Amino acid sequence: MSETSVRPSTLGDGDAPRTRVIALDGPAGTGKSTVSKALADRVGARVLDTGAMYRAATLAVLNAGVSLQDTPSIEDVVGRADIRLDITDDGCVTYLDGVDVSVAIRTDRVTNAVSAVSAVPAVRTKLVAVQRREAQGAFVVVEGRDIGTVVFPDADLKVFLTATPEARATRRHKQNLAAGRPSDYDDVLVSVNRRDHLDSTRAVSPLRPADDAVIVDTSDLTLDQVIDSLDGLVRDRIGVQS
Ligand code: C5P
Repeated sequence: MSETSVRPSTLGDGDAPRTRVIALDGPAGTGKSTVSKALADRVGARVLDTGAMYRAATLAVLNAGVSLQDTPSIEDVVGRADIRLDITDDGCVTYLDGVDVSVAIRTDRVTNAVSAVSAVPAVRTKLVAVQRREAQGAFVVVEGRDIGTVVFPDADLKVFLTATPEARATRRHKQNLAAGRPSDYDDVLVSVNRRDHLDSTRAVSPLRPADDAVIVDTSDLTLDQVIDSLDGLVRDRIGVQS
């Protein structure tokens, strides 16, 4: 089945709760995670971090000792992996085969391998199905790369965050240091550029804004400025009450 053959409706179905989706896409370091969390808090939604799922799939591949060039083995390992997100009020807890891997998926080892694993079509098909299931009946901010284009093409609101590579590398570098992870700005910039290139040139679900996405350049905006502009859009489109 092709990924795009299912277009989940965001309309209610009888008594089933209506699924309400804010799709938040963009490259690494645009502040997506921080914006998702703050926006979700503001409008009473929860966050579904799809990047965490691709990272968990990548950890499974690395743990299995499989080469990143060996697509059949990647398909096999990820096909058997049990990847779940527990969406809590404080964010997502990521489980791989029942183990909390929320910290392990943030290492450089995983970050450097994730674009290769997420470019495998069977990996995307599996994880997109999980993402649609997790959002069913909920009010969620779904953050990723292909949420507005592929996963939820009928999302109530689509936002695409951008920022200059330098602004994004600076943010990632500071996040690393704040989290106690070793970090070198120049290395981070190279990694940001490399991942952008791989994510936006892959054949399946490349990183790009949906035609109807609102594009927000966060390079010179504070978090509050970004949230204020999105908050208004959410209230207009989704009708959330203050
Ligand atoms: O958002 P984060 O940086 O954690 O995402 C890690 C990687 O997962 C991205 O660089 C991309 O390769 C992949 N990804 C994806 N599709 C998504 C979310 C993430 O391909 N919806």
